[in-house]
Amino acid sequence: MKIELAKLTIEKVHKHFIDGDFTSVELTQAYIDEIKKKDIDIHAYLEVFRDAIESASIADKRIKDGEASLLTGIPIAIKDNILIKGKIASSGSKMLENYHATYDATVIEKLKREGVVFIGRTNMDEFAMGGSTENSAYGVTKNPLDLERVSGGSSGGSAAVVAANMALASLGSDTGGSIRQPASFCGVVGLKPTYGAVSRYGVMAMGSSLDQIGPICKTVRDSEIIFDIIRGKDIHDGTTIDNDTYKSNLVSDSQIKSNDKKPVLGVPWHFLGDGIDDKVMQSFNNSIEKFKKMGYEIKEIKLPNISFSLMVYYVLMPAEVSSNMARFDGMRFGLYKNGESGIDDYFESRRAGLGREVIRRILLGTYVLSSGYYDAYYNRANAVRRMILDDFSKAFASVQAIITPTTPSSAFKIGEKTNDPVAMYLEDIFTVTANLTGLPAISIPMKVDETTEYSKTNMPIGLQITAKHGCESTLFEIAKDIEVK
Ligand code: GLN
Repeated sequence: MKIELAKLTIEKVHKHFIDGDFTSVELTQAYIDEIKKKDIDIHAYLEVFRDAIESASIADKRIKDGEASLLTGIPIAIKDNILIKGKIASSGSKMLENYHATYDATVIEKLKREGVVFIGRTNMDEFAMGGSTENSAYGVTKNPLDLERVSGGSSGGSAAVVAANMALASLGSDTGGSIRQPASFCGVVGLKPTYGAVSRYGVMAMGSSLDQIGPICKTVRDSEIIFDIIRGKDIHDGTTIDNDTYKSNLVSDSQIKSNDKKPVLGVPWHFLGDGIDDKVMQSFNNSIEKFKKMGYEIKEIKLPNISFSLMVYYVLMPAEVSSNMARFDGMRFGLYKNGESGIDDYFESRRAGLGREVIRRILLGTYVLSSGYYDAYYNRANAVRRMILDDFSKAFASVQAIITPTTPSSAFKIGEKTNDPVAMYLEDIFTVTANLTGLPAISIPMKVDETTEYSKTNMPIGLQITAKHGCESTLFEIAKDIEVK
């Protein structure tokens, strides 16, 4: 049977495996052929794993023995900051060019148990700091739909491989939007789970109170399948939530929408003002009309402190970055350069190993944490973070989910914002709130005109749906309803 990569989903592939239409080895080979054809231009992979075919043949045996789960034999790409034992994990940085992971991240361990085929590691902004993959030490990942544009970031490689059919799904990490924004730019689905839903053990920390791992897929259902496997309590990550907490959340959510009514959706209109592209607003308004036709109630909500989100994020995130990055000093971890003295070694190693954006954030973070400024910046930002969370809690008393565009614009041109960090930071305006509050959020493609295919003049735009803590199931339900099929 001829494998049509563009049409596959996890469930379809599983059925093909069971029916004997093709094997995991054949499918993995088909993806590798596609990578050979396309990735020269896109540059989404930093490495395609040599043992992918071997893992696929192990998966095939499991399928043959009737022991396959939905994910057995499915080729998935992994962001370069998630550890796979024995493989390089460089976090897109020269600092870790030769670093081989010594253990599996919990998410990897879980996927291995299912018999997933890891096809390769994907390009990213250095240490996940950025929104365009232009900050990778290994070159930019281009948008598969228009090679002059960025794929988004920091999980740009992970979004591009899914959009270009170079993997069926991928994992990314999201500290301020790094799963949802590239998913939005590439026309695929990206989920940032509730903080604590997925273990962070074995993912290189950027902002530890903000980071989450999540799937990037072609469909909402695929995201749900992967999320169900990677989530759960982990003794290695004290912030993880047990499944009982999830269950109690789900009960309270289903009580609100008893009698089969569609969930009520909140829109913070006051926040959707200037600076948003016309096309984005047009698509967003179309989505609202579509929701209404399906019987959803749309309600205006107020999030009085949401306009501070970006400022709060760009104080707290660098603060956490500056302490998390301290370990990359050439001695404990990373590239080592010999200087004139011990302290000089440290400067030389960091200067040689780290890129500009990473250095900028370490400096900023060290400044906001320094004595004399700690109260004025770090503590104040933390207080406002609480206020933002309170705003959301109040809003969720009357709605089950909140919708906004994922980003203020579609994918921008390569180089367009590189010299203007603030313009780049503004891209995160709608995504950072979910990280500050720990709420789950998903980005799914919406189209201005659903009959047209994506093209250079019709680039993808994402719709972001945010739900209460632990209510990913609400996100999936709504996202499946509105999904462009
Ligand atoms: N673009 C955001 C930043 O640069 C998000 C990064 C992320 O989520 N890892 O901080």
